[in-house]
Amino acid sequence: MRIAVIGAGLGGLYASSLLAQKGHDVTVFEKNAVTGGRLYGFTQDGFAFDAGPTLLLMPDVLRHAFERLGQRLEDHVALESIDPVYDVYFSPGEKLSLSSDVQKTKSDLSRVDPRDAARYGDYLAESKKHYDAALDFFLQRNVHRLSDFLSVKAAQAFFAVGLSGSYSDHVARFFKNPRIRAALSFQSIYVGGSPAKIPAAYSLIQYVEATQGVWTVKGGLYQIAVALKKIADKKGVRIQTNQTVSEIVVEDGKAKGVRLADGSFFESDVVLCNADLPFAYAHLLSKGQSPVQKRTLDPSCSAFMMYFGVKRKLPLKHHAFLLPEDFAKGMQDLFDAKRLPSDPGIYLCCASKTFPEMAPDGCDGLYVLVPVPNLQAGIDWNQAAPAFRKTVLGKINAWLGLDLEDSDFAFQKIVTPQDWKDRFGLEWGSTFGLSPTLTQSAFFRPQNRDPRIKNLYFVGASTHPGSGIPIVLFSADNVVHRIQSDFP
Ligand SMILES: Cc1cc2nc3c(=O)[nH]c(=O)nc-3n(C[C@H](O)[C@H](O)[C@H](O)COP(=O)(O)OP(=O)(O)OC[C@H]3O[C@@H](n4cnc5c(N)ncnc54)[C@H](O)[C@@H]3O)c2cc1C
Repeated sequence: MRIAVIGAGLGGLYASSLLAQKGHDVTVFEKNAVTGGRLYGFTQDGFAFDAGPTLLLMPDVLRHAFERLGQRLEDHVALESIDPVYDVYFSPGEKLSLSSDVQKTKSDLSRVDPRDAARYGDYLAESKKHYDAALDFFLQRNVHRLSDFLSVKAAQAFFAVGLSGSYSDHVARFFKNPRIRAALSFQSIYVGGSPAKIPAAYSLIQYVEATQGVWTVKGGLYQIAVALKKIADKKGVRIQTNQTVSEIVVEDGKAKGVRLADGSFFESDVVLCNADLPFAYAHLLSKGQSPVQKRTLDPSCSAFMMYFGVKRKLPLKHHAFLLPEDFAKGMQDLFDAKRLPSDPGIYLCCASKTFPEMAPDGCDGLYVLVPVPNLQAGIDWNQAAPAFRKTVLGKINAWLGLDLEDSDFAFQKIVTPQDWKDRFGLEWGSTFGLSPTLTQSAFFRPQNRDPRIKNLYFVGASTHPGSGIPIVLFSADNVVHRIQSDFP
């Protein structure tokens, strides 16, 4: 079968190789010059940076993905676990270290609140139930029919997976101390959602961090995408970069191929869309063909990024999170009022601490991610970026005593929500795709086969099962399985 794939992000690259391995004739069209999508990185002046993902969870999922392609992960990338997984700062100098050694985390939690620390084991046991149920019921499988939603088994799954309450209520059931609640809730932002609005199911993130650890990759996580591109080439996938798809061509209710920006038409039996689903609905399908109107979709938050090549060594660990002092207000600013917070939450990654070769001698690379409202907030980033940069840098300096100023930087780069939109076609600049709210999670997230257009499939963060490296790999496995069973 001839298959046209739109986009060479993680989902597109992995699914293409699987499809080529099954004997299909696969061509991928990628709008950018480089493949990997959001899983990308760059080098400058002797510094190497991840630009997107920096925390690898569930490493076995990645390992299995390479195995499915007949490869050994270790022949392509070197994984390293980081422990303590990260430091969480509540105020200047006041922090908690979370570890993949449960006893170590418990003892650090007990410094903050011994009664809450005693509940940590129970909390993880409950989160494990969410993890196990999610693996069984939706992460690794397709939802086929309406009856799948209505069966007794699905109803049981609904509760077992933790879809019936919010993440923050779930955390509050176990812990009273506001600091501990905040330290165990902010992980909802990994998938771009507010802890008050996304289902408790996402506490599985905590479970995997605490029991499987947080991993990184020598040279940067984007080496995963570099390796997948090499494998795709070997499998005979034709990847055309600098090729923007402008339309999914549909005739008589069937996808017939793709139209490229230069007007040419590429005919195919199947179209697999890795471009983010809200973008595809809004721009690649003509009006009336999209199953859901764009306005009914709820996008995740965005990210304001700064990458600094620092000409000295920094007193930092690999990962650190600086929470808003008033965590609840910080979340309200971000997700409800949709305004730039005066006290932003900040994530820092200093990968050259683990891999010194990622920066010149005597230097460190500093990656700064600040969750910010998506473009629905109407913020003009050309105007807002310089002042917001100052606020963020001011907080980093004040809380960590770094004294960073312009003369410390060999270079600096800023990426705003507008850049995410322009570079990767992410509607509203929402870096994590569709928000993981209840109505956009698990069985309710847009599925990987279009409900109205035959032969059109989706893979990637805004489709079932969701965002993040391991989850997008599941998405690719699921869609390939679906295509194989639709075209035996
Ligand atoms: C700042 C940031 C930090 C993150 N941190 C983590 C983390 O620490 N851990 C983790 O697991 N996950 C993290 N994620 C999430 C993770 O990066 C994504 O879930 C994953 O990479 C998405 O892959 P994808 O294949 O769905 O989409 P994408 O990477 O968006 O790929 C889609 C591809 O389609 C291309 N495309 C779009 N439109 C067209 C068109 N019209 N024609 C041709 N090509 C087109 C795009 O250029 C892109 O290459 C992070 C994301 C961001 C942005």
